[in-house]
Amino acid sequence: MSAVPVFVYHSVTDDPPTWSAPYTVTPRAFVEQLDRIADGGLTVVPLRRLVSAQHGGPPLPPRAAVLTFDDGYADFYWTVAPLLSGRELPATLYLTTGAIHPPGGSATGSLLPPARMLNWRQVSGLDAYGIEIGGHSRTHPQLDTLPGRRLYDEIVVCKRELEDAVGHVVDSFAYPHGYSSQAVRRKVQKAGWTSACAVGRAFSSPEDHPLRISRLMVGADTTQELFQAWVEGRGAPVAPVPERLRTKGWRAYRRVRAALGRPVAC
Ligand SMILES: [Zn+2]
Repeated sequence: MSAVPVFVYHSVTDDPPTWSAPYTVTPRAFVEQLDRIADGGLTVVPLRRLVSAQHGGPPLPPRAAVLTFDDGYADFYWTVAPLLSGRELPATLYLTTGAIHPPGGSATGSLLPPARMLNWRQVSGLDAYGIEIGGHSRTHPQLDTLPGRRLYDEIVVCKRELEDAVGHVVDSFAYPHGYSSQAVRRKVQKAGWTSACAVGRAFSSPEDHPLRISRLMVGADTTQELFQAWVEGRGAPVAPVPERLRTKGWRAYRRVRAALGRPVAC
């Protein structure tokens, strides 16, 4: 089974708000990681290549990797995109539509605390440039703790908003906080999303489930040694990894917290 690192980043900046600092890497660390990917001989492929391999399509290059970015921070436009462009690397950007605003205007709102987010004009520009735009819900809830009627808004309406913005079909989804359930995955598939990323803290693989793609989260505490291990296909399990009972217990706990209006932070 070939291990495919699907890296998930959030913000790439030197001055994140305190709340998002753990999920942020500095531009310098990011450049070093891109160098490690290149020096380590990994081929960065578009996410759809991995999904196609998971559906029995053409095999991936021997040592493939995928780059993904969640939420829609403004630094993607100013910092990340130019660095990816200089190296001709593909990437998927998953947007929380309620956090994206018209130029100079306000967003419809999300559960994400305040941060500098992309505007819709920048999203169109990134799409035109070739960055894959994907969905990450409207308000960034833990989808597996929501009642069914609210899933429609987060999964179906999010897709429509993105397609209206870029003018073509958008079919890659990422679960906020990485959480999903069978009911959520069914809804995602029914809405027309053809792939969905989780977190999982594991390598993905051609045998991984396309609606539950495992990713490796790169944050402030990811040492370059650990990143190097990931580049070399070490340091994490390879999906599919069976869902442990612990995960189910954790979900029950989060459901109770969400019902009490005190969701677990991520
Ligand atoms: Zn997110």
